[in-house]
Amino acid sequence: AKFKEGLSKTRDSFAEKINDLLSRYRKVDEEFFEELEEILIQADVGVQTVMELVDELKLEAKRQKLEDSESLKPLITEKFVELLHSTAGNQQLNMASDGLTVILFVGVNGVGKTTTIGKMAHMFKNQGKKVMLAAGDTFRAGAIEQLEIWGERAGVDVTKHQAGSDPAAVIYDAIQATRKRDIDVLLCDTAGRLQNKVNLMQELNKIYRVIQREIPGAPHETLLVLDATTGQNAFSQAKTFNEATGITGIVLTKLDGTAKGGIVIAISNELGIPVKFVGLGEKLDDLQPFDAEQYVYALFS
Ligand code: GDP
Repeated sequence: AKFKEGLSKTRDSFAEKINDLLSRYRKVDEEFFEELEEILIQADVGVQTVMELVDELKLEAKRQKLEDSESLKPLITEKFVELLHSTAGNQQLNMASDGLTVILFVGVNGVGKTTTIGKMAHMFKNQGKKVMLAAGDTFRAGAIEQLEIWGERAGVDVTKHQAGSDPAAVIYDAIQATRKRDIDVLLCDTAGRLQNKVNLMQELNKIYRVIQREIPGAPHETLLVLDATTGQNAFSQAKTFNEATGITGIVLTKLDGTAKGGIVIAISNELGIPVKFVGLGEKLDDLQPFDAEQYVYALFS
């Protein structure tokens, strides 16, 4: 229900257009598929993905001898789910089998990184885990205070240094603190300076070295936070961050605020990075694990 509600903007515009298309064309032909392509591209599904998808639909329609448009609808949903499953890989979070799990959050300012960390802290706490936050964005004014506010909301501790200090040192201290307090999950904020890719890489590399030295096998996830309302911009951020550092999953925020929720499909398919969580609002419990079936059915039904 939450998924359906959160995706209502995308669903309204998308489902309306699809249904309109289906009612105008009783028989599927070349023109029908062209219009379908147009609708999918407008929903930010991504040109490459749309081409693949529509080609497959054409083939499958031919194979099954489907000629009327209504019988094509279930096939479209089926293909979407298939695509998300085959390309998005593992949507589950990778957790330490024993001991501390370290999750690193990267992404540019304003995408909802701090909010997502707060929400995820809340989620783990509800699962009975002990959580700590590390204020690794020492660069942006106010970032530390903002993380503390979310720490308070979620009821978890925050390890911090002064603004301007070395982020890798903050993370190092946080790891030491988790040992004393028997923490299960450490969520690390980082600065999102995309303007300078070299700086970003150096800073992240240093953080990685510290984490890997302290906890073999960590970080268990490097999650890129992207704002769904920025459409193709989110797509190019994903590309750049993925080149700068190995992204293991994406959190797509503000899906509730866009009619172009098709971006989930484009990112998963064209970059091969799984979308692991989606943000569907501003509150603590507005974070949902991404579920391909629920997502596609929320869009089409
Ligand atoms: P940061 O700069 O990346 O840390 O971004 P913030 O966490 O401060 O979030 C920026 C703004 O986006 C805030 O006003 C949040 O309330 C809002 N926001 C974050 N996630 C979501 C979401 O999933 N849905 C909506 N509607 N707003 C969100």
